[in-house]
Amino acid sequence: MTAMMKATVFVAPGRIELVDKPIPAIGPNDALIRITTTTICGTDVHILKGEYPVVPGLTIGHEPVGVIEKLGSAVQGYQEGQRVIAGAICPNFNSYAAQDGAPSQDGSYLIPLHQCGGHGYKATAGWRFGNLIDGTQAEYVLVPDAQANLAPIPDGLSDEQVLMCPDIMSTGFKGAENANIKLGDTVVVFAQGPIGLCATAGARLMGATTVIAVDGNDHRLGISKVMGADVTLNFRNCDVVSEVMKLTGGRGADSAIEALGTQATFEQALRVLKPGGTLSSLGVYSSDLTIPMSAFAAGLGDHRINTALCPGGKERMRRLMNVVASQRVDLGVLVTHTYKLDDIVAAYELFANQRDGVLKVAIKPN
Ligand SMILES: [Zn+2]
Repeated sequence: MTAMMKATVFVAPGRIELVDKPIPAIGPNDALIRITTTTICGTDVHILKGEYPVVPGLTIGHEPVGVIEKLGSAVQGYQEGQRVIAGAICPNFNSYAAQDGAPSQDGSYLIPLHQCGGHGYKATAGWRFGNLIDGTQAEYVLVPDAQANLAPIPDGLSDEQVLMCPDIMSTGFKGAENANIKLGDTVVVFAQGPIGLCATAGARLMGATTVIAVDGNDHRLGISKVMGADVTLNFRNCDVVSEVMKLTGGRGADSAIEALGTQATFEQALRVLKPGGTLSSLGVYSSDLTIPMSAFAAGLGDHRINTALCPGGKERMRRLMNVVASQRVDLGVLVTHTYKLDDIVAAYELFANQRDGVLKVAIKPN
């Protein structure tokens, strides 16, 4: 008889369900992870609402913390029973795309399916969990290319302390890394959801000395201060662009990080920049963007616009866990609620409606 597990699957727009599925069989390059903690991402809510399409029946979720249950025959240097995480993005690091510095855009596993030429370049294809293969909101998950993606958890760190590493922290910090921040810079971070809060913490770690956090929710702006913001601006109470100009003596910010994915935040991020400044975009946009001519200096302003998908891989995860272990930042404050996997539908309801001051929900299969 096939051993079964519980898994959270997308059924139809507006509907996810906890169902029984077979525990997956492993191939030589895989690892089977028993999930001890996972979480729900804003992207999962887009999937639930039908705004981001996935195949019905797919297990969703892409943030795994767990224990190695079984290792594929080709995976070396790990032990069964070891506590590990894997990035939300699981490249295999063999492709031209990965070796060209864009591993998150690595679709080389699609080559045998004739969906990706022979090169591996395919935008966003590094995101496999809960997108193209079964994800982490289950009792077990199969990690592909495990040798490249399994990262052992340092002793002494709890599941909650590393739960942000696979996605939220990796993405938020990438926003800061992509912002060309120099010591003494002024950086404005638009939106203070979990990713924006990590971008705020990352901007400070990168050496910004004036971090300005922008959101419409005072509760979140309170947490921005804990995460390292020097100034908080509630866009409902002020004109953000003129406030930033005031704060910078009319110079403009050195960098702006966009962590939401709307025309309004993208446009304001451009408008607060100094000439020569960098806009680091993290948002997932769901419609066309317009670039305002005046803020763009007609294309002659030496602005840089960088975009990113969450970086994955074991070296990325090792570094992020080092940041946590060295107590440079405490992301435990982002985990505001805990639910059993059995109650995940209720957890989605809470998270999707942003009730009770929720930031991130820890989901525990047992
Ligand atoms: Zn995510």
